[in-house]
Amino acid sequence: MKFPKETNTYCPYCRKHTVHKVKIPSKGRARKMSIGNRKHEKSLKGHGGKRAGEKTVKKQGKRQRVMLICPECNKKHERTISGRTKKKLEIQR
Ligand SMILES: [Zn+2]
Repeated sequence: MKFPKETNTYCPYCRKHTVHKVKIPSKGRARKMSIGNRKHEKSLKGHGGKRAGEKTVKKQGKRQRVMLICPECNKKHERTISGRTKKKLEIQR
């Protein structure tokens, strides 16, 4: 999936359309004590086991996000583009 480097969009702070810069937002750090991480760690410890080659869960695509930066007020706002996709987001040159 491709997205242009600059787009003319609405800035909620300036309340008008300006040419925004587009960046991919950096991923935040995972919390160690979150329930998902705790479950994953527990499964790595052993006990329970699994049958090889059998998958019950289908992988779900992710919602791609872009960070829009307004050149006039230098403020950022995020936008999710389209629905869930398995394709990675690229910014066009
Ligand atoms: Zn602005």
